[in-house]
Amino acid sequence: MTLFPIFADLRGRRALVVGGGAVAARKVQALLEAGADVAVGAPRLDEALAALAAEARIAHLPGEFRPEWLDDAWLVVAATDDRAVNSAVYEAAGQRRLFCNVVDDAELSSFQVPAVVDRSPLIVAISSSGVAPVLARRVREQLESMLDHVLGPLAALAARHRAHIRAALPDLARRRRFYDWLLDGPVAGWLRRQQPEQAEAELQRALQAPAPARPGSVVLVGAGPGDPGLLTLKALRALNEADVILHDRLVSDGVLALARRDAERVPVGKLPGENHDATQARIHRLMAEHAQAGRRVVRLKGGDAFIFGRGGEELEYLHAHGVPFEVVPGITAALACAAYAGIPLTHRDHAQSVRLVTAHCRDDAEALDWSGLARGQQTLAFYMGVGQLDRLAARLVEHGRDGGTPVALIENGSRPEQRVVSGTLAHLPELAQRHGVRAPALLIVGEVAGLAQRLHWFGTHLPAGAGAAA
Ligand code: SAH
Repeated sequence: MTLFPIFADLRGRRALVVGGGAVAARKVQALLEAGADVAVGAPRLDEALAALAAEARIAHLPGEFRPEWLDDAWLVVAATDDRAVNSAVYEAAGQRRLFCNVVDDAELSSFQVPAVVDRSPLIVAISSSGVAPVLARRVREQLESMLDHVLGPLAALAARHRAHIRAALPDLARRRRFYDWLLDGPVAGWLRRQQPEQAEAELQRALQAPAPARPGSVVLVGAGPGDPGLLTLKALRALNEADVILHDRLVSDGVLALARRDAERVPVGKLPGENHDATQARIHRLMAEHAQAGRRVVRLKGGDAFIFGRGGEELEYLHAHGVPFEVVPGITAALACAAYAGIPLTHRDHAQSVRLVTAHCRDDAEALDWSGLARGQQTLAFYMGVGQLDRLAARLVEHGRDGGTPVALIENGSRPEQRVVSGTLAHLPELAQRHGVRAPALLIVGEVAGLAQRLHWFGTHLPAGAGAAA
């Protein structure tokens, strides 16, 4: 971030605009709307500015620019069509430690004026840091159509009743739900129908008889493999409504960044020296405690919660403790890694079924049905296998899968640092070692893995025979 965004309170404060033409007039208008005490310095004012000066809504400082004009100012805008004058204003402002904007000249500006979506008191300001104003305007157009016009009056209404709302609903979680109701419910509806008195009455009614506290709940959410674009809309919504987010280590920062800013984020990965069962017991306790305290808990897991995610155990615990829950599926690593590596998991010519296999199971991996797994015409997707690739490859070959079967290892699938290593089953351990493949990585075994050679489209692809990674 090269610019620090601020919203300045200019009410009653002097803002100096240098320039008397149409561009200056636009800036003056915006400053007046913000309640600034505007002075315009210019030899001549155009018609609109002259009219404002005649009504004493602005002060006119006549003549060529003089640094003394800056004496009373908090903020300066230079809007002349003479770069030398603009530059002189910028210099003089800098000497006085005043922020100065030269219209459409990022180089001569110590602050930028953002594109604005105005739903006062709600204001959205957009900046492209001065490098792409067209982009900022495009985003503004999109937001204009997205943000309901009723948001402004609704926020103003809520602001008027803020103290009352706070007193009626001292508990933060309940207050938050009340605000959600305000945004989504009948109050907004009345405002949309231009009936502000009804809106006011509805709000008063709700405050007199606030709904009883809702019990907390848990939403088990699949966060997908890492690319935030692979979240579902329901997952996004849950993240925006959460009071507490209990997340795994596998969940990417990009996904967490989409959650409500003031939601409490609790990483619940395995602690040093803790075994898996102890970690799981701690997670169970945390979920239930937060929900029983009335909070909306999101239990956020990499991929899908029901694929090698212990989601089933977590729901059983919640069920046993009477905690209400919901489940939002996520894109599991096998689907994402295959898609991002260009590997269709099924294919009319090569594979009529897919098996999702964990190479790390509760009892002994030897318990896996190796002869079934070694059969042809199917694709295998191994999770958690990086540590035991030699054993996996050996068992499959021993049980009859051809050593020449294509394999692909997808490391950090769907993330910017994704790598795909391709080769054959017989050379799998050596491939992984040569390229230093590390978790999280998914192994795909089957004819379809060979298609990555042609169909890869994302990140780095290291084809069979590629040399050592740098
Ligand atoms: N519930 C998760 C899987 C958890 S098990 C899901 O549905 O995806 C953890 C294993 O998933 C890792 O060891 C790895 O094999 C795989 N995995 C998860 N995210 C991955 C990613 N972005 N790229 C490659 N493999 C991933």
